[in-house]
Amino acid sequence: MIRIYSLFCIFAFCVSAASAQPERWQQRVQYVMDIDMDAPKNQYTGYQQLTYTNNSPDTLWQVFYHLYFNAFQPGSMMDTRSRSLPDADPRVSDRISKLKPEEYGYIQVSALSHNGKPVRFETNETILEVTLNEPVLPGASAVFEMRWKAQVPLQIRRSGRDNREGVRFSMAQWYPKMCEYDYQGWHSNAYIAREFYGVWGDFDVTIHIDREYIVAAGGYLQNPQETGYGYEAADQQVERPAGKKLRWHFKTPNVHDFVWAADPEFTQVVHRTQDGTVMRFFWQKGLGYDAQWEKLPAIMDRARTLINERFGVYPYKEYAFIQGGDGGMEYPLATLITGNRSLMSLVGVSVHEHLHSWYQMILGTNESLYAWMDEGFTSYAEDIVMNELAREDLLPGKKADFNPLVGAYDGYVNLALSGKEEPLSTHADHFATNYAYGVAAYVKGAVFLSQLEYIIGKSAFQKGLLRYYNTWKFKHPNVNDCVRIFEKQSGLELDWYKEDWVNTLNTIDYALKSVEKEGRKTTKVTIERIGLMAMPLDIRVTYTDGDIEWFYAPLESMRGAKPKEDKEPRTLLPDHRWVDPVYTFDIPEKMKKIARIDIDPAGGMADVKRDNNSYVAPD
Ligand SMILES: [Zn+2]
Repeated sequence: MIRIYSLFCIFAFCVSAASAQPERWQQRVQYVMDIDMDAPKNQYTGYQQLTYTNNSPDTLWQVFYHLYFNAFQPGSMMDTRSRSLPDADPRVSDRISKLKPEEYGYIQVSALSHNGKPVRFETNETILEVTLNEPVLPGASAVFEMRWKAQVPLQIRRSGRDNREGVRFSMAQWYPKMCEYDYQGWHSNAYIAREFYGVWGDFDVTIHIDREYIVAAGGYLQNPQETGYGYEAADQQVERPAGKKLRWHFKTPNVHDFVWAADPEFTQVVHRTQDGTVMRFFWQKGLGYDAQWEKLPAIMDRARTLINERFGVYPYKEYAFIQGGDGGMEYPLATLITGNRSLMSLVGVSVHEHLHSWYQMILGTNESLYAWMDEGFTSYAEDIVMNELAREDLLPGKKADFNPLVGAYDGYVNLALSGKEEPLSTHADHFATNYAYGVAAYVKGAVFLSQLEYIIGKSAFQKGLLRYYNTWKFKHPNVNDCVRIFEKQSGLELDWYKEDWVNTLNTIDYALKSVEKEGRKTTKVTIERIGLMAMPLDIRVTYTDGDIEWFYAPLESMRGAKPKEDKEPRTLLPDHRWVDPVYTFDIPEKMKKIARIDIDPAGGMADVKRDNNSYVAPD
């Protein structure tokens, strides 16, 4: 009886623990890859054994792989798209159309088997379509074995060889990668320029490359005593095996991608961080930017501490900042960034790309569908962290701002007034211009969070950010999942915010229409809602003696009010209803004169026309 009773207790505990977490099944991958690089030819051959676990309730008769390198051939979807956009990315522009065959990128799959038996496959540009002989049943695992030949493209976008700073290999999006299958089905989007989505799992990657190359990667090197180049422990004797090539064996647990880079001129600096991890810095020394790179480790260490506190704890043991690519691009446990930058720019890009570890690598939003939940949230966090680093005097020349998101609000307002805006819910690949995509994803997405803080208050917002991370890490949250966290944390209803800000182009514009004396006892204030999007209203009244008093009108749709957080007195007004074109309230007469009244003086709302937000009393 005791035994049965305790089993029951364990069962009850498991059920209650599980129900605290959201249910969202995830597919699982386990990659073992062996890569033989021919560096002088910019080609490699690859072998991959992929153990794929179907945790979905569905029977899979097909699977799909990304073959990203195939985008770098004239006439590809990426090339065609770039040449037909009105404002092409200058890094791509028409450059793909001009590649010579030895500059193309390709991945040519020569053999693929499923549980030991060959399967039919067809290459459709950047997607490999595989028809299975036998299905992968719900809950079952399948082993796919693949062999392929690849050519590393001349660096055009993100990955490639010989980037403009002379880094030989920036190896991103470089291997056949299983597409994600989730509750919305397959995501076998052709690669046309932007955004990624992937399956979490474990990577075991062995790279054989000419021995003068130093390899940097998003992973833990397993054989530092055979490679050296700064990876070896202080007391470790490096013994490089004989032969033309060295073997580099990396393992990375629980990630959805694997990146590496290689160059004979890399130097490596290893830094142990306050939180007990290792940061590695790889750049080409002696080209005029060593001073900035040498200052970077201490600053990134401090940034990491700030990020851990504010946005959630980094769960991996290492992170590498690697010179490469064509700007800054994020990967699990590593980033590729260009190296020739001012200190401010180097720190800015490093902070931004590292923060993607939180929003793209660990939360892993589907960037194609919700680019703004990755780029926007990352940009928001970057502004907060950069502002704090400036406040601590770690960024010479940068001053801390009262509202570090000021630039983001301005960028969004410019887009909203430009006539070029498209809803945030637009698929990342389908925006009509790069401008609309860029501002929507990076800026309107950042303002989403900052404005949320205005709506629910600082305390619930900051707790909500951590709760979002801790609840949804490794689960691919969507916009609703995110908004629900902040609803639970604040006790306020927020669906109206999501509907307006994400799914429409409705804008916010409130105006102080009139301020009138009503008899001797009160001053009547009338606020006009000009924009279609309604918001709760923070109104500040400043008296001629400098005293401040707040009036706060919650939005009826919120079903509540944000708590008072300012030190000055606040009057809670009746709800402001979203249908009302005007909202009026009374200020009871005091023994002092009103100097001015301002709607949202801190700029928490993305009001597209701020010059009508204030009333200044005549002298
Ligand atoms: Zn980014």
